Amino acid sequence: MYKTHTCGELRSAHVGQTVTLAGWVHHFRDHGGVTFIDLRDRFGVVQVVGNPDESDALLPLKEARSEWVLQITGVVQPRIEGAVNPNLATGEIEVAATSVSVLNPSKALPILVNKEEGEDEHLRLKYRYLDLRRERMRRNLTLRHRTTKSIRDYLDEHSFLEIETPILFKTTPEGARDYLVPSRVHPGQFYALPQSPQQLKQLLMVAGTERYFQIARCFRDEDQRGDRQPEFTQLDLEMSFVERDDVMALAEDMFTKLVAEVVPEKKLFASPWPRLTYQEALERFGKDNPDIRFGLELQNISDLAEGSGFKVFEGTIAAGGDVRGINAKGLGDYTRKQIEALTAFVQEHGAKGLAYIALPSEGGMRSSFAKFLPEERVQAIIERMGAEPGDLLLFVADQPAVVFETLGRLRVHLGDVLGLRDPNVLAFCWVIDFPFVMWNEDEQRWDPSHHLFTSPMPEDIPLLDSDPGKARGQQYDLVMNNYEVGGGSIRIHQRDLQEKVFALIGLDHDVAQERFGHMLEAFEYGAPPHGGIAVGIDRLVMLLANAPNIREVIAFPKNQQARDVMADAPSPAEPKQLKELHIKLDL
Ligand code: ASP
Repeated sequence: MYKTHTCGELRSAHVGQTVTLAGWVHHFRDHGGVTFIDLRDRFGVVQVVGNPDESDALLPLKEARSEWVLQITGVVQPRIEGAVNPNLATGEIEVAATSVSVLNPSKALPILVNKEEGEDEHLRLKYRYLDLRRERMRRNLTLRHRTTKSIRDYLDEHSFLEIETPILFKTTPEGARDYLVPSRVHPGQFYALPQSPQQLKQLLMVAGTERYFQIARCFRDEDQRGDRQPEFTQLDLEMSFVERDDVMALAEDMFTKLVAEVVPEKKLFASPWPRLTYQEALERFGKDNPDIRFGLELQNISDLAEGSGFKVFEGTIAAGGDVRGINAKGLGDYTRKQIEALTAFVQEHGAKGLAYIALPSEGGMRSSFAKFLPEERVQAIIERMGAEPGDLLLFVADQPAVVFETLGRLRVHLGDVLGLRDPNVLAFCWVIDFPFVMWNEDEQRWDPSHHLFTSPMPEDIPLLDSDPGKARGQQYDLVMNNYEVGGGSIRIHQRDLQEKVFALIGLDHDVAQERFGHMLEAFEYGAPPHGGIAVGIDRLVMLLANAPNIREVIAFPKNQQARDVMADAPSPAEPKQLKELHIKLDL
Protein backbone atom coordinates (compact mmCIF):
# COMPACT_ATOMS: atom_id res chain seq x y z
CA MET A 1 0.00 0.00 0.00
CA TYR A 2 1.23 3.45 -0.82
CA LYS A 3 -0.52 5.13 2.12
CA THR A 4 -1.38 4.52 5.75
CA HIS A 5 -4.08 7.19 5.88
CA THR A 6 -6.19 9.23 3.49
CA CYS A 7 -5.78 12.98 3.15
CA GLY A 8 -9.23 13.54 4.61
CA GLU A 9 -9.09 11.60 7.84
CA LEU A 10 -6.36 13.14 9.99
CA ARG A 11 -7.53 14.99 13.13
CA SER A 12 -6.07 16.24 16.42
CA ALA A 13 -6.33 12.68 17.73
CA HIS A 14 -3.59 11.66 15.28
CA VAL A 15 -1.07 14.18 16.62
CA GLY A 16 2.28 12.52 17.20
CA GLN A 17 1.64 9.65 14.76
CA THR A 18 3.87 9.00 11.78
CA VAL A 19 1.74 8.66 8.65
CA THR A 20 2.32 8.06 4.96
CA LEU A 21 0.04 9.82 2.50
CA ALA A 22 -0.26 9.72 -1.28
CA GLY A 23 -2.13 12.15 -3.48
CA TRP A 24 -2.05 15.19 -5.70
CA VAL A 25 -0.60 18.64 -5.07
CA HIS A 26 -3.71 20.77 -4.73
CA HIS A 27 -1.90 24.00 -3.74
CA PHE A 28 1.71 24.80 -2.97
CA ARG A 29 3.35 27.88 -1.50
CA ASP A 30 6.91 28.67 -0.57
CA HIS A 31 7.39 30.77 2.57
CA GLY A 32 11.07 31.65 2.75
CA GLY A 33 12.34 28.12 2.33
CA VAL A 34 9.46 26.38 4.08
CA THR A 35 7.14 24.71 1.59
CA PHE A 36 3.43 24.29 2.30
CA ILE A 37 1.56 21.75 0.21
CA ASP A 38 -2.14 20.98 0.31
CA LEU A 39 -2.13 17.32 -0.56
CA ARG A 40 -5.41 15.99 -1.96
CA ASP A 41 -6.87 12.57 -2.53
CA ARG A 42 -10.44 11.46 -3.06
CA PHE A 43 -11.14 11.75 0.63
CA GLY A 44 -9.97 15.28 1.33
CA VAL A 45 -7.11 17.71 1.64
CA VAL A 46 -4.40 17.99 4.28
CA GLN A 47 -1.62 20.50 4.77
CA VAL A 48 1.95 19.24 4.62
CA VAL A 49 4.97 21.38 5.65
CA GLY A 50 8.66 20.84 5.17
CA ASN A 51 11.91 22.68 4.60
CA PRO A 52 13.80 21.09 1.71
CA ASP A 53 16.98 22.96 2.70
CA GLU A 54 17.09 21.03 5.94
CA SER A 55 16.92 17.49 4.54
CA ASP A 56 17.69 15.87 1.22
CA ALA A 57 14.69 13.59 1.78
CA LEU A 58 12.51 16.67 1.31
CA LEU A 59 14.15 17.95 -1.90
CA PRO A 60 11.18 16.98 -4.13
CA LEU A 61 9.16 19.67 -2.30
CA LYS A 62 11.23 22.22 -4.20
CA GLU A 63 10.15 21.11 -7.66
CA ALA A 64 6.65 19.79 -7.04
CA ARG A 65 3.92 21.71 -8.86
CA SER A 66 0.15 21.51 -9.18
CA GLU A 67 -1.23 18.01 -9.65
CA TRP A 68 2.07 16.20 -9.22
CA VAL A 69 1.51 12.87 -7.51
CA LEU A 70 3.51 12.65 -4.28
CA GLN A 71 4.01 10.15 -1.52
CA ILE A 72 4.80 11.86 1.76
CA THR A 73 5.76 10.44 5.11
CA GLY A 74 5.65 12.73 8.14
CA VAL A 75 4.48 13.34 11.66
CA VAL A 76 1.05 14.79 12.46
CA GLN A 77 1.38 17.96 14.51
CA PRO A 78 -1.09 20.59 15.73
CA ARG A 79 -1.18 23.76 13.67
CA ILE A 80 0.11 26.84 15.45
CA GLU A 81 -2.54 29.15 16.81
CA GLY A 82 -3.96 31.43 14.13
CA ALA A 83 -3.21 28.86 11.42
CA VAL A 84 -6.17 26.61 12.27
CA ASN A 85 -8.54 26.37 9.29
CA PRO A 86 -12.12 25.77 10.45
CA ASN A 87 -13.29 25.32 6.83
CA LEU A 88 -11.17 22.23 6.36
CA ALA A 89 -12.00 18.92 8.05
CA THR A 90 -8.28 18.41 8.68
CA GLY A 91 -7.80 22.10 9.52
CA GLU A 92 -6.55 21.61 13.09
CA ILE A 93 -3.44 19.68 12.13
CA GLU A 94 -0.69 19.48 9.56
CA VAL A 95 1.85 16.88 8.59
CA ALA A 96 5.51 17.73 9.13
CA ALA A 97 7.15 15.88 6.26
CA THR A 98 10.16 13.66 6.89
CA SER A 99 10.43 12.28 3.36
CA VAL A 100 8.81 13.02 0.02
CA SER A 101 8.92 11.06 -3.20
CA VAL A 102 7.53 11.94 -6.59
CA LEU A 103 5.28 9.15 -7.88
CA ASN A 104 4.57 11.05 -11.07
CA PRO A 105 5.00 14.65 -12.18
CA SER A 106 2.34 16.57 -14.14
CA LYS A 107 2.61 18.88 -17.12
CA ALA A 108 1.24 22.41 -16.76
CA LEU A 109 -2.54 22.01 -16.60
CA PRO A 110 -5.01 22.91 -19.39
CA ILE A 111 -7.72 23.42 -16.74
CA LEU A 112 -7.32 24.24 -13.09
CA VAL A 113 -8.39 21.55 -10.68
CA ASN A 114 -8.40 23.67 -7.54
CA LYS A 115 -10.80 26.27 -8.93
CA GLU A 116 -14.43 25.43 -9.65
CA GLU A 117 -15.29 27.80 -12.48
CA GLY A 118 -13.74 29.44 -15.42
CA GLU A 119 -13.18 27.01 -18.25
CA ASP A 120 -15.46 26.48 -21.17
CA GLU A 121 -17.22 23.15 -21.28
CA HIS A 122 -15.35 21.90 -24.33
CA LEU A 123 -12.09 22.07 -22.41
CA ARG A 124 -13.68 20.45 -19.40
CA LEU A 125 -14.96 17.55 -21.52
CA LYS A 126 -11.68 17.18 -23.42
CA TYR A 127 -9.82 16.88 -20.13
CA ARG A 128 -12.63 15.18 -18.27
CA TYR A 129 -10.20 13.15 -16.15
CA LEU A 130 -8.92 16.46 -14.74
CA ASP A 131 -12.37 17.98 -14.46
CA LEU A 132 -13.47 14.95 -12.43
CA ARG A 133 -10.72 15.66 -9.89
CA ARG A 134 -12.66 18.73 -8.83
CA GLU A 135 -14.51 18.54 -5.59
CA ARG A 136 -17.88 19.43 -7.08
CA MET A 137 -17.63 16.66 -9.66
CA ARG A 138 -16.47 14.19 -7.05
CA ARG A 139 -19.49 15.14 -4.97
CA ASN A 140 -21.80 14.64 -7.95
CA LEU A 141 -20.43 11.18 -8.70
CA THR A 142 -20.69 10.26 -5.03
CA LEU A 143 -24.30 11.41 -4.94
CA ARG A 144 -25.01 9.34 -8.04
CA HIS A 145 -23.49 6.28 -6.40
CA ARG A 146 -25.55 6.83 -3.25
CA THR A 147 -28.71 7.25 -5.32
CA THR A 148 -28.32 3.99 -7.20
CA LYS A 149 -27.21 2.23 -4.02
CA SER A 150 -30.31 3.39 -2.17
CA ILE A 151 -32.45 2.14 -5.06
CA ARG A 152 -30.67 -1.22 -5.18
CA ASP A 153 -30.97 -1.70 -1.42
CA TYR A 154 -34.67 -0.81 -1.43
CA LEU A 155 -35.52 -3.08 -4.32
CA ASP A 156 -33.47 -5.92 -2.89
CA GLU A 157 -35.43 -5.63 0.35
CA HIS A 158 -38.62 -5.80 -1.71
CA SER A 159 -37.75 -9.08 -3.49
CA PHE A 160 -36.68 -7.60 -6.83
CA LEU A 161 -34.02 -9.37 -8.89
CA GLU A 162 -31.45 -7.27 -10.73
CA ILE A 163 -31.17 -8.87 -14.16
CA GLU A 164 -29.03 -7.74 -17.08
CA THR A 165 -30.63 -7.69 -20.50
CA PRO A 166 -28.78 -7.59 -23.82
CA ILE A 167 -27.23 -4.48 -25.30
CA LEU A 168 -27.29 -6.07 -28.75
CA PHE A 169 -30.96 -6.51 -29.58
CA LYS A 170 -33.53 -6.03 -32.29
CA THR A 171 -34.40 -2.84 -34.11
CA THR A 172 -37.82 -1.29 -33.36
CA PRO A 173 -38.07 1.68 -35.69
CA GLU A 174 -41.41 2.90 -34.31
CA GLY A 175 -39.88 4.52 -31.24
CA ALA A 176 -37.02 6.98 -31.46
CA ARG A 177 -34.25 6.29 -33.98
CA ASP A 178 -32.15 3.22 -33.17
CA TYR A 179 -28.38 2.95 -32.99
CA LEU A 180 -27.63 0.08 -35.36
CA VAL A 181 -24.75 -2.36 -35.04
CA PRO A 182 -23.84 -4.20 -38.24
CA SER A 183 -23.29 -7.91 -37.93
CA ARG A 184 -20.08 -9.32 -39.40
CA VAL A 185 -21.25 -12.91 -39.32
CA HIS A 186 -24.71 -12.16 -40.72
CA PRO A 187 -24.02 -9.96 -43.74
CA GLY A 188 -26.55 -7.19 -44.23
CA GLN A 189 -28.13 -7.70 -40.81
CA PHE A 190 -28.06 -5.44 -37.80
CA TYR A 191 -28.54 -5.46 -34.10
CA ALA A 192 -29.93 -2.38 -32.43
CA LEU A 193 -28.82 -0.94 -29.11
CA PRO A 194 -31.86 -0.92 -26.80
CA GLN A 195 -33.86 2.28 -26.45
CA SER A 196 -34.98 0.69 -23.20
CA PRO A 197 -35.26 -2.90 -21.98
CA GLN A 198 -39.03 -2.64 -22.40
CA GLN A 199 -39.66 -5.84 -24.33
CA LEU A 200 -37.15 -7.84 -22.35
CA LYS A 201 -38.53 -6.83 -18.99
CA GLN A 202 -42.01 -7.81 -20.13
CA LEU A 203 -40.65 -11.14 -21.32
CA LEU A 204 -39.08 -11.58 -17.88
CA MET A 205 -42.59 -11.25 -16.48
CA VAL A 206 -43.78 -13.98 -18.84
CA ALA A 207 -40.77 -15.93 -17.52
CA GLY A 208 -42.19 -15.72 -14.01
CA THR A 209 -39.61 -13.30 -12.56
CA GLU A 210 -42.43 -11.24 -10.98
CA ARG A 211 -40.13 -8.46 -9.75
CA TYR A 212 -37.26 -7.30 -11.96
CA PHE A 213 -35.08 -4.22 -12.01
CA GLN A 214 -31.98 -2.98 -13.75
CA ILE A 215 -29.94 0.21 -13.75
CA ALA A 216 -30.05 0.11 -17.51
CA ARG A 217 -28.17 1.98 -20.20
CA CYS A 218 -30.51 3.14 -22.96
CA PHE A 219 -29.65 4.46 -26.41
CA ARG A 220 -31.71 6.81 -28.57
CA ASP A 221 -30.38 8.42 -31.73
CA GLU A 222 -32.36 11.63 -31.48
CA ASP A 223 -31.44 15.11 -32.58
CA GLN A 224 -29.60 16.66 -29.70
CA ARG A 225 -32.04 19.35 -28.74
CA GLY A 226 -32.05 20.41 -25.13
CA ASP A 227 -30.36 18.51 -22.39
CA ARG A 228 -30.10 15.01 -23.85
CA GLN A 229 -27.49 12.34 -24.24
CA PRO A 230 -27.42 9.64 -26.93
CA GLU A 231 -26.92 7.13 -24.13
CA PHE A 232 -28.49 7.58 -20.74
CA THR A 233 -29.32 5.56 -17.65
CA GLN A 234 -32.69 4.47 -16.37
CA LEU A 235 -33.83 2.64 -13.33
CA ASP A 236 -35.99 0.14 -15.14
CA LEU A 237 -38.41 -2.03 -13.21
CA GLU A 238 -41.30 -4.35 -13.86
CA MET A 239 -43.75 -6.20 -11.63
CA SER A 240 -46.33 -8.92 -12.20
CA PHE A 241 -49.83 -9.10 -10.72
CA VAL A 242 -49.99 -5.37 -10.08
CA GLU A 243 -52.32 -2.53 -10.86
CA ARG A 244 -51.44 1.09 -11.53
CA ASP A 245 -51.63 2.08 -7.86
CA ASP A 246 -49.28 -0.71 -6.80
CA VAL A 247 -46.45 0.46 -9.04
CA MET A 248 -47.02 4.09 -8.11
CA ALA A 249 -47.07 3.28 -4.38
CA LEU A 250 -43.83 1.32 -4.63
CA ALA A 251 -42.04 4.09 -6.54
CA GLU A 252 -43.36 6.72 -4.15
CA ASP A 253 -42.16 4.83 -1.10
CA MET A 254 -38.76 4.09 -2.65
CA PHE A 255 -38.06 7.71 -3.64
CA THR A 256 -39.41 9.13 -0.39
CA LYS A 257 -36.91 6.96 1.47
CA LEU A 258 -34.18 7.81 -1.03
CA VAL A 259 -34.61 11.54 -0.46
CA ALA A 260 -34.44 11.12 3.33
CA GLU A 261 -31.36 8.95 3.03
CA VAL A 262 -29.38 10.60 0.24
CA VAL A 263 -30.32 14.29 0.41
CA PRO A 264 -31.67 14.81 3.95
CA GLU A 265 -31.18 18.57 3.52
CA LYS A 266 -33.95 18.59 0.92
CA LYS A 267 -37.65 18.62 1.71
CA LEU A 268 -40.52 16.93 -0.07
CA PHE A 269 -43.13 19.47 -1.13
CA ALA A 270 -46.07 17.20 -0.37
CA SER A 271 -46.65 13.70 0.86
CA PRO A 272 -48.46 11.68 -0.40
CA TRP A 273 -47.46 12.99 -3.78
CA PRO A 274 -50.24 14.87 -5.54
CA ARG A 275 -51.88 13.18 -8.51
CA LEU A 276 -53.00 15.25 -11.46
CA THR A 277 -54.82 14.09 -14.51
CA TYR A 278 -53.17 15.00 -17.79
CA GLN A 279 -56.00 17.44 -18.52
CA GLU A 280 -55.73 19.08 -15.10
CA ALA A 281 -51.96 19.43 -15.46
CA LEU A 282 -52.45 21.21 -18.78
CA GLU A 283 -55.24 23.47 -17.56
CA ARG A 284 -53.52 24.51 -14.35
CA PHE A 285 -49.87 24.54 -15.35
CA GLY A 286 -49.81 24.45 -19.15
CA LYS A 287 -47.72 21.29 -19.25
CA ASP A 288 -47.77 17.61 -18.34
CA ASN A 289 -44.49 17.91 -16.41
CA PRO A 290 -45.39 20.81 -14.13
CA ASP A 291 -43.55 22.52 -11.33
CA ILE A 292 -46.16 22.52 -8.58
CA ARG A 293 -44.00 24.29 -5.98
CA PHE A 294 -45.72 27.60 -6.67
CA GLY A 295 -49.03 29.08 -7.83
CA LEU A 296 -49.30 31.44 -10.81
CA GLU A 297 -51.74 28.92 -12.25
CA LEU A 298 -53.32 29.41 -15.66
CA GLN A 299 -56.88 30.76 -15.81
CA ASN A 300 -59.24 30.31 -18.71
CA ILE A 301 -60.98 33.55 -19.76
CA SER A 302 -62.25 32.28 -23.11
CA ASP A 303 -65.88 32.80 -22.08
CA LEU A 304 -65.15 36.43 -21.18
CA ALA A 305 -63.14 36.96 -24.38
CA GLU A 306 -65.96 35.66 -26.54
CA GLY A 307 -68.18 38.48 -27.79
CA SER A 308 -66.01 41.00 -25.97
CA GLY A 309 -65.67 43.28 -28.99
CA PHE A 310 -61.90 42.77 -29.10
CA LYS A 311 -61.18 41.33 -32.56
CA VAL A 312 -58.03 39.39 -31.64
CA PHE A 313 -59.83 37.51 -28.87
CA GLU A 314 -63.01 36.98 -30.84
CA GLY A 315 -61.14 35.75 -33.90
CA THR A 316 -59.15 33.28 -31.83
CA ILE A 317 -62.28 31.86 -30.20
CA ALA A 318 -64.07 31.63 -33.55
CA ALA A 319 -61.11 29.61 -34.90
CA GLY A 320 -61.45 27.09 -32.05
CA GLY A 321 -58.80 28.71 -29.88
CA ASP A 322 -58.63 29.76 -26.25
CA VAL A 323 -57.67 32.82 -24.27
CA ARG A 324 -55.90 31.98 -21.04
CA GLY A 325 -53.79 33.98 -18.68
CA ILE A 326 -51.50 34.11 -15.67
CA ASN A 327 -51.60 36.53 -12.79
CA ALA A 328 -47.96 37.48 -12.24
CA LYS A 329 -48.40 38.50 -8.63
CA GLY A 330 -46.41 41.54 -7.65
CA LEU A 331 -45.17 42.51 -11.13
CA GLY A 332 -47.83 45.22 -11.70
CA ASP A 333 -45.18 47.92 -11.79
CA TYR A 334 -43.32 46.30 -14.68
CA THR A 335 -42.23 48.83 -17.30
CA ARG A 336 -43.24 48.61 -20.94
CA LYS A 337 -39.73 47.32 -21.68
CA GLN A 338 -39.99 44.53 -19.14
CA ILE A 339 -43.37 43.50 -20.55
CA GLU A 340 -41.87 43.56 -24.06
CA ALA A 341 -39.22 41.13 -22.86
CA LEU A 342 -41.95 38.77 -21.66
CA THR A 343 -43.69 39.17 -25.02
CA ALA A 344 -40.49 38.23 -26.84
CA PHE A 345 -40.22 35.20 -24.54
CA VAL A 346 -43.64 33.80 -25.49
CA GLN A 347 -43.10 34.66 -29.17
CA GLU A 348 -39.91 32.59 -29.17
CA HIS A 349 -42.04 29.63 -28.20
CA GLY A 350 -44.72 30.19 -30.82
CA ALA A 351 -47.27 32.72 -29.50
CA LYS A 352 -48.23 35.62 -31.73
CA GLY A 353 -48.22 38.05 -28.83
CA LEU A 354 -48.89 38.68 -25.17
CA ALA A 355 -51.87 40.77 -24.07
CA TYR A 356 -51.62 42.35 -20.64
CA ILE A 357 -53.36 44.28 -17.90
CA ALA A 358 -50.94 45.87 -15.45
CA LEU A 359 -52.35 47.06 -12.13
CA PRO A 360 -49.67 49.33 -10.64
CA SER A 361 -49.39 49.25 -6.85
CA GLU A 362 -50.27 52.97 -6.72
CA GLY A 363 -53.62 52.22 -8.40
CA GLY A 364 -54.83 52.69 -11.97
CA MET A 365 -54.39 50.35 -14.92
CA ARG A 366 -52.26 49.99 -18.04
CA SER A 367 -53.34 47.53 -20.69
CA SER A 368 -52.63 46.51 -24.26
CA PHE A 369 -56.30 45.71 -24.95
CA ALA A 370 -58.68 46.94 -22.22
CA LYS A 371 -59.71 49.96 -24.28
CA PHE A 372 -61.37 47.63 -26.84
CA LEU A 373 -63.58 45.97 -24.22
CA PRO A 374 -66.56 47.21 -22.26
CA GLU A 375 -65.65 48.23 -18.71
CA GLU A 376 -67.63 45.35 -17.09
CA ARG A 377 -65.75 42.75 -19.15
CA VAL A 378 -62.43 44.14 -18.05
CA GLN A 379 -63.61 44.08 -14.43
CA ALA A 380 -64.86 40.50 -14.86
CA ILE A 381 -61.46 39.46 -16.25
CA ILE A 382 -59.62 41.14 -13.36
CA GLU A 383 -61.91 39.37 -10.93
CA ARG A 384 -61.50 35.97 -12.62
CA MET A 385 -57.73 36.39 -12.39
CA GLY A 386 -57.95 37.20 -8.66
CA ALA A 387 -55.98 40.37 -9.31
CA GLU A 388 -55.19 43.23 -6.93
CA PRO A 389 -53.17 46.39 -7.30
CA GLY A 390 -49.55 45.39 -7.84
CA ASP A 391 -50.39 42.47 -10.15
CA LEU A 392 -49.61 41.92 -13.81
CA LEU A 393 -52.07 39.88 -15.89
CA LEU A 394 -50.66 38.21 -18.98
CA PHE A 395 -52.76 36.54 -21.68
CA VAL A 396 -52.16 34.41 -24.73
CA ALA A 397 -54.87 33.91 -27.35
CA ASP A 398 -54.24 31.01 -29.73
CA GLN A 399 -54.92 27.36 -30.45
CA PRO A 400 -54.94 25.45 -27.12
CA ALA A 401 -51.62 23.68 -27.82
CA VAL A 402 -49.88 27.02 -28.34
CA VAL A 403 -51.56 28.63 -25.34
CA PHE A 404 -50.49 25.78 -23.04
CA GLU A 405 -46.99 25.57 -24.45
CA THR A 406 -46.29 29.30 -24.12
CA LEU A 407 -48.05 30.00 -20.83
CA GLY A 408 -46.58 26.83 -19.35
CA ARG A 409 -43.10 28.09 -20.12
CA LEU A 410 -43.92 31.66 -19.12
CA ARG A 411 -45.18 30.46 -15.75
CA VAL A 412 -41.91 28.68 -15.02
CA HIS A 413 -39.96 31.73 -16.20
CA LEU A 414 -41.99 33.95 -13.87
CA GLY A 415 -41.43 31.45 -11.07
CA ASP A 416 -37.70 31.97 -11.57
CA VAL A 417 -38.07 35.75 -11.77
CA LEU A 418 -40.07 35.77 -8.55
CA GLY A 419 -37.71 33.35 -6.77
CA LEU A 420 -40.42 30.74 -6.26
CA ARG A 421 -38.40 27.70 -7.35
CA ASP A 422 -36.40 26.63 -4.31
CA PRO A 423 -34.09 23.80 -5.45
CA ASN A 424 -34.14 22.32 -1.96
CA VAL A 425 -37.83 21.59 -2.22
CA LEU A 426 -38.63 18.50 -4.27
CA ALA A 427 -42.17 18.54 -5.57
CA PHE A 428 -42.82 15.04 -6.86
CA CYS A 429 -46.21 14.46 -8.41
CA TRP A 430 -47.91 11.91 -10.60
CA VAL A 431 -49.61 12.70 -13.87
CA ILE A 432 -52.19 10.09 -14.87
CA ASP A 433 -55.08 9.54 -17.25
CA PHE A 434 -53.15 10.40 -20.38
CA PRO A 435 -54.89 10.00 -23.68
CA PHE A 436 -54.08 6.51 -24.95
CA VAL A 437 -53.20 7.76 -28.43
CA MET A 438 -52.52 11.16 -29.95
CA TRP A 439 -53.22 12.16 -33.53
CA ASN A 440 -50.08 12.62 -35.60
CA GLU A 441 -50.97 15.31 -38.12
CA ASP A 442 -47.86 14.81 -40.29
CA GLU A 443 -48.24 11.07 -40.64
CA GLN A 444 -52.05 11.14 -40.49
CA ARG A 445 -52.27 8.34 -37.94
CA TRP A 446 -52.60 7.66 -34.22
CA ASP A 447 -49.39 7.49 -32.20
CA PRO A 448 -49.26 5.84 -28.79
CA SER A 449 -48.87 8.63 -26.25
CA HIS A 450 -46.63 6.36 -24.17
CA HIS A 451 -45.52 3.28 -26.09
CA LEU A 452 -46.87 0.32 -28.00
CA PHE A 453 -47.19 -1.95 -25.00
CA THR A 454 -49.16 0.32 -22.69
CA SER A 455 -52.63 -0.93 -21.91
CA PRO A 456 -55.70 1.23 -22.36
CA MET A 457 -57.97 1.69 -19.33
CA PRO A 458 -60.10 -1.47 -19.31
CA GLU A 459 -63.33 0.55 -19.42
CA ASP A 460 -62.03 2.52 -22.43
CA ILE A 461 -61.22 -0.50 -24.62
CA PRO A 462 -64.50 -0.18 -26.58
CA LEU A 463 -63.45 3.38 -27.48
CA LEU A 464 -60.53 2.01 -29.49
CA ASP A 465 -63.06 1.15 -32.20
CA SER A 466 -65.45 4.09 -31.85
CA ASP A 467 -63.43 7.12 -30.72
CA PRO A 468 -59.75 6.27 -30.04
CA GLY A 469 -58.84 9.88 -29.19
CA LYS A 470 -61.10 9.68 -26.12
CA ALA A 471 -59.57 6.50 -24.67
CA ARG A 472 -57.23 6.85 -21.70
CA GLY A 473 -54.08 4.82 -21.16
CA GLN A 474 -52.93 3.12 -17.99
CA GLN A 475 -49.87 5.33 -18.00
CA TYR A 476 -48.35 7.30 -15.14
CA ASP A 477 -45.63 9.90 -15.38
CA LEU A 478 -43.40 10.75 -12.46
CA VAL A 479 -42.79 14.48 -12.47
CA MET A 480 -40.60 16.68 -10.30
CA ASN A 481 -39.89 20.42 -10.40
CA ASN A 482 -40.71 20.95 -14.08
CA TYR A 483 -39.12 17.69 -15.28
CA GLU A 484 -40.51 14.35 -16.27
CA VAL A 485 -38.23 12.08 -14.28
CA GLY A 486 -39.97 8.84 -15.07
CA GLY A 487 -42.89 7.09 -16.61
CA GLY A 488 -44.48 3.74 -16.83
CA SER A 489 -47.67 1.87 -17.38
CA ILE A 490 -49.70 -1.25 -16.93
CA ARG A 491 -49.03 -3.33 -20.04
CA ILE A 492 -51.11 -5.28 -22.45
CA HIS A 493 -50.69 -8.99 -21.73
CA GLN A 494 -53.09 -10.51 -24.23
CA ARG A 495 -52.28 -11.15 -27.85
CA ASP A 496 -55.59 -9.99 -29.28
CA LEU A 497 -55.54 -6.63 -27.51
CA GLN A 498 -51.90 -6.10 -28.48
CA GLU A 499 -52.74 -6.84 -32.13
CA LYS A 500 -55.68 -4.47 -31.96
CA VAL A 501 -53.39 -1.70 -30.72
CA PHE A 502 -50.82 -2.43 -33.43
CA ALA A 503 -53.59 -2.10 -35.98
CA LEU A 504 -54.87 1.12 -34.44
CA ILE A 505 -51.50 2.82 -34.77
CA GLY A 506 -51.25 1.64 -38.36
CA LEU A 507 -48.74 -1.15 -37.96
CA ASP A 508 -49.32 -3.58 -40.80
CA HIS A 509 -50.12 -7.13 -39.65
CA ASP A 510 -47.07 -8.70 -41.33
CA VAL A 511 -44.73 -5.98 -40.14
CA ALA A 512 -46.05 -6.36 -36.59
CA GLN A 513 -45.49 -10.09 -36.82
CA GLU A 514 -41.96 -9.66 -38.12
CA ARG A 515 -40.97 -7.09 -35.48
CA PHE A 516 -42.94 -8.18 -32.47
CA GLY A 517 -43.86 -11.80 -33.22
CA HIS A 518 -41.84 -12.93 -30.20
CA MET A 519 -43.92 -10.68 -27.91
CA LEU A 520 -47.23 -11.74 -29.42
CA GLU A 521 -46.30 -15.38 -29.12
CA ALA A 522 -45.10 -14.98 -25.53
CA PHE A 523 -48.47 -13.48 -24.58
CA GLU A 524 -50.05 -16.79 -25.58
CA TYR A 525 -48.08 -18.82 -23.04
CA GLY A 526 -49.56 -17.62 -19.78
CA ALA A 527 -48.37 -14.01 -19.62
CA PRO A 528 -49.33 -12.59 -16.21
CA PRO A 529 -50.85 -9.13 -15.83
CA HIS A 530 -47.89 -6.80 -15.33
CA GLY A 531 -46.68 -3.22 -15.32
CA GLY A 532 -43.66 -1.15 -14.46
CA ILE A 533 -41.86 2.11 -14.63
CA ALA A 534 -38.56 3.61 -15.72
CA VAL A 535 -36.92 6.58 -14.03
CA GLY A 536 -34.18 8.70 -15.59
CA ILE A 537 -31.20 8.44 -13.26
CA ASP A 538 -29.26 11.26 -14.92
CA ARG A 539 -32.09 13.73 -14.48
CA LEU A 540 -32.96 12.61 -11.01
CA VAL A 541 -29.37 12.98 -9.82
CA MET A 542 -29.08 16.32 -11.61
CA LEU A 543 -32.04 17.60 -9.58
CA LEU A 544 -30.77 16.12 -6.33
CA ALA A 545 -27.35 17.70 -6.96
CA ASN A 546 -28.79 21.10 -7.99
CA ALA A 547 -26.71 20.71 -11.15
CA PRO A 548 -27.52 22.83 -14.21
CA ASN A 549 -27.56 19.93 -16.71
CA ILE A 550 -27.18 16.14 -16.84
CA ARG A 551 -23.60 16.30 -18.16
CA GLU A 552 -22.60 17.43 -14.68
CA VAL A 553 -23.66 14.12 -13.17
CA ILE A 554 -22.32 11.77 -15.87
CA ALA A 555 -18.66 10.80 -15.65
CA PHE A 556 -17.96 10.83 -19.38
CA PRO A 557 -20.84 12.51 -21.21
CA LYS A 558 -21.08 13.33 -24.89
CA ASN A 559 -21.24 17.00 -25.78
CA GLN A 560 -24.38 18.58 -27.23
CA GLN A 561 -23.39 17.44 -30.71
CA ALA A 562 -23.31 13.85 -29.44
CA ARG A 563 -19.49 13.70 -29.61
CA ASP A 564 -17.07 12.36 -27.08
CA VAL A 565 -14.52 15.16 -27.36
CA MET A 566 -12.00 13.46 -25.08
CA ALA A 567 -11.53 10.31 -27.15
CA ASP A 568 -12.87 11.98 -30.30
CA ALA A 569 -15.74 9.65 -31.08
CA PRO A 570 -17.48 8.92 -33.35
CA SER A 571 -14.51 8.45 -35.68
CA PRO A 572 -13.94 6.85 -39.08
CA ALA A 573 -13.43 3.09 -39.24
CA GLU A 574 -10.59 1.35 -41.09
CA PRO A 575 -11.47 0.17 -44.61
CA LYS A 576 -10.67 -3.37 -43.44
CA GLN A 577 -13.24 -3.10 -40.65
CA LEU A 578 -15.88 -1.85 -43.05
CA LYS A 579 -15.13 -4.63 -45.50
CA GLU A 580 -15.55 -7.24 -42.78
CA LEU A 581 -18.89 -5.71 -41.95
CA HIS A 582 -19.95 -5.73 -45.62
CA ILE A 583 -20.36 -1.95 -45.56
CA LYS A 584 -19.69 0.49 -48.40
CA LEU A 585 -19.89 4.16 -47.48
CA ASP A 586 -22.08 6.53 -49.45
CA LEU A 587 -21.24 9.96 -48.08
N1 ASP B 1 -39.65 1.70 -21.13
C1 ASP B 1 -40.38 2.91 -20.89
C2 ASP B 1 -39.54 4.13 -21.27
O1 ASP B 1 -38.34 4.02 -21.39
C3 ASP B 1 -40.78 3.09 -19.48
C4 ASP B 1 -41.73 2.05 -19.02
O2 ASP B 1 -42.84 2.00 -19.56
O3 ASP B 1 -41.40 1.31 -18.10
O4 ASP B 1 -40.08 5.19 -21.41
